[in-house]
Amino acid sequence: MTPTRRLYEETPTLRAFDAAVLECRPDPAADGYWETVLDATAFYPEGGGQPCDLGLLGEEPVLAVRVDGDGVIRHRTAHPLPVGTALHGEIDWARRFDHMQQHTGEHILSGILHSLYGAENVGFHIGSPAVRVDVSLPLTADQLARAEELANDTVQADRPVRCWVPPRAELADLPYRSKKEIEGEVRLVDAGGADLCACCGTHVATTGQVGLIKILSAQHYKGGVRLAVACGKRACQAVCALWKDSQRAGALLSVPAGESTRAVQRLLDAQSADRQRLAALQNALADRTAAAAAPGETLVLFLEGPDPDGLRRICLAAAQKTGARCAVFAPGGQGLSYALSDPEDTRTLCRRLNAQFGGRGGGKAGFCQGSLPADADRQAVEEFLRRA
Ligand SMILES: [Zn+2]
Repeated sequence: MTPTRRLYEETPTLRAFDAAVLECRPDPAADGYWETVLDATAFYPEGGGQPCDLGLLGEEPVLAVRVDGDGVIRHRTAHPLPVGTALHGEIDWARRFDHMQQHTGEHILSGILHSLYGAENVGFHIGSPAVRVDVSLPLTADQLARAEELANDTVQADRPVRCWVPPRAELADLPYRSKKEIEGEVRLVDAGGADLCACCGTHVATTGQVGLIKILSAQHYKGGVRLAVACGKRACQAVCALWKDSQRAGALLSVPAGESTRAVQRLLDAQSADRQRLAALQNALADRTAAAAAPGETLVLFLEGPDPDGLRRICLAAAQKTGARCAVFAPGGQGLSYALSDPEDTRTLCRRLNAQFGGRGGGKAGFCQGSLPADADRQAVEEFLRRA
């Protein structure tokens, strides 16, 4: 079969078209589905990091579109389409325009990362909700912010995006980006002067139509960085979601949206001071408990307030003074936390305590920690520990 005429390359803004059905066969990759070949199509087949178009052929929903090395474009449908007839095709334009925005935005950003830092784009996929861009160099947050700013300057400048197939002789002199050596004709995209790249995808007509380019996250990846990027409406939605989150955080912190950082820092400083105060009080309580305990005396204490570290300090200080069994309890987490020490065999005692009252925990020979259910009968626990 001859390669399908690609209407999406000739007119990327084409939303509807008429074409003849040349072939319709069972889909070799999807049981029960059909694949249709047309003489021309505006449906973009999955490729180059850009997902395929969806839409309608006649009344039939198009579920997937693919192209092989033979250049024949195949449309998957749930029912066969009549060979020899003419069909009206309609592209899901919202989906396609979104892909065009993401794809063009990626060109602008990748071109700028390349010209600023010599970084190569080594992976690209328009996913959901973000576009994944893998960059060959480990760029800093400042470097990425600078590139994002310049990319959005290009968007604001609203310059033309041009796609064309230059003659071979001309191609040799053009400094275009490409992930691989390309046999045959090379289709180039000039993204408003920010990028010159070999590409088979669909793009918006001017950089202004990208709307906004936002890098949502960056993480180390194979010696470089993996970016999550959103462009166009997706970028607006992402910014709106972040703003909403900032507003909610601001309401909790009693500061306006966008000013949470300093408030959170104050909160963390206060928490750190509280932790130090708590540690000092727990040490004082441990000292007093030990001072009040008599040598040889079994201690079973139910307290309010100490955290697991406090229980440990109190228990060990008291046990050192008494040389006898010591168990300290306090509500914590979902249950009743405890610290336990026994001069003979703490671990066996711990296992028996847990078995008796449905608790859990353990430790070493002289000291164990764990928790019992919150509703454990405290009197029964105390009797058990004094008797066992
Ligand atoms: Zn492209």
